[in-house]
Amino acid sequence: VTVGAVRERAPGERRVALVPEAVTLLRRAGLDVLIETGAGSGAWFTDAEYADAGATVVTPDELYARADAVLCVGPPDPEAAGALRAGQTLIGLLQPLRHPALVEDLTGRGVRTVSLDLLPRTLSRAQSMDALTSQAAVAGYKAALLAADLYDRFFPMLTTAAGTTRPAQVLILGAGVAGLQAIATARRLGAVVSAYDVRPASRGEVESLGARFLDVQSPPEGEQGTELGGYARELTEQEQRAQREALDTHIARSDIVITTAQVPGRKPPLLVTAAVVERMKPGSVVVDLAASELGGNVEGSEPDKTVVLDGGVTLIGAGHLPSAMATAASTAYARNLVALLGHLVRDGELNLDPADEITAALMGGGPS
Ligand code: NAD
Repeated sequence: VTVGAVRERAPGERRVALVPEAVTLLRRAGLDVLIETGAGSGAWFTDAEYADAGATVVTPDELYARADAVLCVGPPDPEAAGALRAGQTLIGLLQPLRHPALVEDLTGRGVRTVSLDLLPRTLSRAQSMDALTSQAAVAGYKAALLAADLYDRFFPMLTTAAGTTRPAQVLILGAGVAGLQAIATARRLGAVVSAYDVRPASRGEVESLGARFLDVQSPPEGEQGTELGGYARELTEQEQRAQREALDTHIARSDIVITTAQVPGRKPPLLVTAAVVERMKPGSVVVDLAASELGGNVEGSEPDKTVVLDGGVTLIGAGHLPSAMATAASTAYARNLVALLGHLVRDGELNLDPADEITAALMGGGPS
């Protein structure tokens, strides 16, 4: 099997699907590896390092001509998608829920697609392939650092000759993979952290990181937000309003608020209104990790945009946080791909077995 990692072309995308360490592992497993020239430069990996690890550095034309499987991070642009041919397999975070036309077009032309976003999250044997988890962990870590950077006071309680500072009060909304990593990072910096999630099961995880789990009015017993595959379901409008009112007081008192709440395939829930941001102290910082073209968790946030609001609150609409830590994010993503290829390659062939639960889901045939 020949796999080829392309250079990502999306604006601002610095990650790369394979890193040299992953090339070594794939070569050891008997795969041939192609790398598009310059593919790793955004993540500080040189063509020479890939070649030393056993990859062949090639032009895009050569890569598309020779690869059985094309490896990418984000979905390809129309030109790259057009270069794929029947019988080839495209593997990446293809976002089929957001861009259904891309996958339809490719499968219509006989290109097989493997969307890592469709991995069954709760299967333990799929954990090593879980790219959504590895990338969300990077995003959560970076979100806490961004907040600390733009906050003009200390996170920890510091005692110096000039007196004692009080620790920052950090609130994390949404305690999934990114939220938990943000909690852990803010805690390591010495902040006092509280968190909230609609999934009651997250309480134990929050508390084990030394943060307080907020008790706000929950949906009626038996209808709590735990659903298919451990994901949250969308709350009703009424439930959302009750939750928001209870959270508002906590938000207004916090120095830092980091929101990470998502419901797969849906618009992110609005958790922080402009009115409550106005109640926050000047100098406070809000990071919306869910900021998207569809809106985010914070009213008025926009992806990749940081604004200081009239009330003195800095609002950061996160964009591509994993890409902002491209080396760590690419290294983790490449490990996920190595695990995935270990699952898919049998006897030197790419074996996309529709009867396999993981493979079927990744090809869009199973529950996600
Ligand atoms: P996500 O990115 O889809 O959402 C982030 C968090 O936001 C989730 O915890 C969700 O419950 C929460 N949320 C949604 N609506 C909310 C609201 N209105 N208010 C507050 N919080 C809200 O989630 P994720 O990080 O991808 O994780 C999804 C699930 O998968 C979690 O249960 C996670 O623990 C689980 N998971 C399991 C494994 C595994 O078992 N191998 C691996 C990764 C994730």
